[in-house]
Amino acid sequence: MSRNIPDSSKKLLKYITDEIHLEESAEEVLSIAYLIMEHVFGLDKAEIILDRSINISNSKAKELKEFIKRINTYEPIQYILGETEFYGREFKVDKGVLIPRGETEELVQLIINENQGKKIKLLDIGTGTGCIPITLLKELRGARAFAIDYDPRAIKVARKNAQLHNVPIEFLLIDILNEPIPVQSLDVIVSNPPYVTESDKLQMKPNVLKYEPAMALFVEDSDPLLYYRRIAELAKSTLKEHGLLYFEINERFGEDVKTLLEVMDYSDVQIVKDLHGKDRIARASNSVN
Ligand code: GLN
Repeated sequence: MSRNIPDSSKKLLKYITDEIHLEESAEEVLSIAYLIMEHVFGLDKAEIILDRSINISNSKAKELKEFIKRINTYEPIQYILGETEFYGREFKVDKGVLIPRGETEELVQLIINENQGKKIKLLDIGTGTGCIPITLLKELRGARAFAIDYDPRAIKVARKNAQLHNVPIEFLLIDILNEPIPVQSLDVIVSNPPYVTESDKLQMKPNVLKYEPAMALFVEDSDPLLYYRRIAELAKSTLKEHGLLYFEINERFGEDVKTLLEVMDYSDVQIVKDLHGKDRIARASNSVN
């Protein structure tokens, strides 16, 4: 960056948007610029509109340039800030965990709607940041939670988030593909497992491909339902009778996941669409025939 950094907030905002060279919409670039203004200079939107003048120290100038440099390599802003928002709460993130998505808020919303007032015992498989069980414990009074991940980095982040939100969760470092689940009599099992296939990769943005953990995202084209089949199998004996199974799914496999669950004798199998009208959630009840 060669230009001098301006000292009025409106001009600074403009300077930042000009320095961001991402293939993103102007709206997205502007929202990144606002976040930078807030985190580097402590200025919110109202203060920018008032065009407050700012005194930019050498260290702030350096911080700003470093921030923009990272943004221009497509590093997600959530990793640079070390935090993100999920269901109205702050969650710590780092490169070891997937950044929580809006679709997962919809998954959580469905579970909240269907389990209000029930004091459930729940398990989240592939917990990442821990955003699913932490939000459910916050929203469902009297719930108890267990959370599994096979990456110790994820367990570390999730533990930190559970502490931040002051909820008790029992974390288990387990590879569910090769190990059993040591919890019984569950009311709810939820999972947002890896579901992006190698062929879906072509449509993914560089911020996801370059920075987010592949082990949380990808599954082989030859067996895209691997995690669903395994979890549904484990859930048969660990869910209570009529316990509920909730999955976030790849929009291309709604019908396939539904068939899989029906063949495995689950009842009330439903595929729910997300806000974009895409098949995104599978839910089923553990019927005992
Ligand atoms: N929805 C995520 C994405 O498109 C994928 C989440 C997952 O694989 N579980 O990046």
